[in-house]
Amino acid sequence: MQVVEKQYDVVVVGSGGAGTSAAVAARDQGCSVLLVSKDPINCSDSKISEGIVTVRGSETDKDTETELSSNIRIQGDDIGRAEHARAFAEDSQSAYEWMRQQGLKPHFDESGKAKTLGMAMGGHTQSRSIDHANGGLDYAHALRQALTEKQNGHLDYMEDAWFLDLYVQESEQRISVQGGLIYHAADGVLVSVKAQAVVLACGGIGTLYFPHTDTMRGNTGDAYAIAARAGAKLVDMEQIQFIPFAAVNPPSHQGLIVGEPVSAGALGVIRDATGKVILSEIMARTRAECAAAIAQAVEEGRGTDHGGCYLDLTDNIQGASAEPFRYVMKTKAGSLLKVVRASMGSSAARFEVPWEVKPSAHYCMGGIATDENGQVFDANSQPIHGLLAAGQALGGLHGSNRLGSTSLAEAIIFGRRAGYQAAVSAPLNSGSDTNEKSVIEYYLSMLGRDGESYGIDITRALQKACWKFIGPARNEKDMSELKDSISQREQQLDDCHVSSSKYFNQSFIDVVEARNLLQCATFIVQSALSRKRSLGAHFRTDSRPDNLGKRPFSVQCFWESEGQLKIVHEDREASPVGARIKLRMQQGGKILMLKLLRHLPLGLRDKILIKKYAAAAGGLPKENVHEA
Ligand SMILES: Cc1cc2nc3c(=O)[nH]c(=O)nc-3n(C[C@H](O)[C@H](O)[C@H](O)COP(=O)(O)OP(=O)(O)OC[C@H]3O[C@@H](n4cnc5c(N)ncnc54)[C@H](O)[C@@H]3O)c2cc1C
Repeated sequence: MQVVEKQYDVVVVGSGGAGTSAAVAARDQGCSVLLVSKDPINCSDSKISEGIVTVRGSETDKDTETELSSNIRIQGDDIGRAEHARAFAEDSQSAYEWMRQQGLKPHFDESGKAKTLGMAMGGHTQSRSIDHANGGLDYAHALRQALTEKQNGHLDYMEDAWFLDLYVQESEQRISVQGGLIYHAADGVLVSVKAQAVVLACGGIGTLYFPHTDTMRGNTGDAYAIAARAGAKLVDMEQIQFIPFAAVNPPSHQGLIVGEPVSAGALGVIRDATGKVILSEIMARTRAECAAAIAQAVEEGRGTDHGGCYLDLTDNIQGASAEPFRYVMKTKAGSLLKVVRASMGSSAARFEVPWEVKPSAHYCMGGIATDENGQVFDANSQPIHGLLAAGQALGGLHGSNRLGSTSLAEAIIFGRRAGYQAAVSAPLNSGSDTNEKSVIEYYLSMLGRDGESYGIDITRALQKACWKFIGPARNEKDMSELKDSISQREQQLDDCHVSSSKYFNQSFIDVVEARNLLQCATFIVQSALSRKRSLGAHFRTDSRPDNLGKRPFSVQCFWESEGQLKIVHEDREASPVGARIKLRMQQGGKILMLKLLRHLPLGLRDKILIKKYAAAAGGLPKENVHEA
């Protein structure tokens, strides 16, 4: 395969919300930028998302930066970095304003103000989530607009192109990145690109759990694996967010998101297979709490045949508030209801029967260790010159529980910060050679290799094992078994068949991705083994939850030498006790209100609910309101 050389100021990997906004920010500083994407440009989780975006203060001016950053930190059990939460809160409005300038259009109320969902998504203390008529499509179209606008600088993009590895120069003092190698499948060449900075914005790791995931298949953890191979540190990789309510059947719909805690309505409950309520007041719970309740029931043998439980929304349609409830769901969660109808039938979509659901891998809350501008850190927490990360690739924001609608905002906030930082980072060259030659040789030597098995076989076996052993429920024995089996699979990978074809060489891509997935499985399992107690999304069946009074710590990992992963713990500062108590009391208060509501006489309950639904929907059509 031919190796083509190119040179840019900045290379950005990934064309979702984070990558696109990083590329545009660097271009706007006058840089020449290459945007590389394995999927077609802008096809990403950002595009298939529900398109709901956190915007501080969008409902009330009382929503302060302190309140938003405190929500993120405390709901994430304080294991994230305070600097990241602060940056998120500071930039949340300007990031959305920037998207508006690119053409993103919310729904408006009569005064011309952008409308929110009208209720706080699970774990937020304010209603601050803005939805869009066509969900993620609207968001992605705005990104496309930003890309194609001509301003300063110069931006090229390359799709069907797999970024493989970084070029690294190491001196005694520091690591510096100077570009990397790309497989451009459509052109059938390897592209060796030199740059002063690289931004990794490759999304997450959902494919490790396929088919139990709602993410795009390109989520093979490339950013984490590539950054770690270049000497970066990763944080909190055990914290994989499993969205609690995903379809279980038919198999082709498995893993697709069908609901959020907030869409359970005021009276939704989760039941085990015997019909017993295992969690109520769902609307006031976080994703982690709901997923853990289901995982526990399944683990204890109280799950359905498909390994799930039931999300029962039937109480929401008992009285005069039934039609208003249906109306709110249709207008606010219409795309989710389409999946419900297709997979469970129309009586389920009318909420007349419980939904069979189970958790599904949705988001990686851990990621590459960075500062609040996306500057990547090495094992000693020193900056790796010329390496940045943004979006889901970046770790340290969400801790143990990502709040709904924060990721699309995060992508823009940290994408723009990282793009700017990449543009202003001056080239650093200590004079010694980079590893460019050995990187190119490594990938060229794979081509035309004879072998009995294929990379995809290893991936399929790994996916099964990861769902079972580092999925929503975990224990020491199973995880240790998985850890051993990963090393065996890594050896098998070296013997896999790889064709010598140039164009869209799938066997090559499969081996590249299988290697990244295996390395990510190692990061997750070893981090998970080292966090001995359940915390947030990390639910251990062999230990009790982490003690609330204990000092929070982040689990971090990096390659000490080839094949040797080192795990360290870094203490984090806990949020002030007062703030933690206040937030828990607010959540407790909401739970209590929902409990009380359930026990009110039907007529009174309906009156309260109809008022709430009307507020959420910004008014109800006359035909949906009947006397309570
Ligand atoms: C079904 C669903 C609904 C969601 N709804 C919401 C929501 O309403 N609100 C919210 O806040 N969040 C939501 N999320 C989460 C959110 O969509 C994602 O976390 C967010 O879009 C991530 O943005 P990103 O730019 O980091 O990555 P992505 O948007 O996933 O983009 C990653 C990019 O990297 C590319 N890539 C990966 N590896 C390589 C490589 N090696 N070489 C080249 N390119 C590479 C991919 O092709 C892609 O272009 C949802 C997620 C899903 C799956």
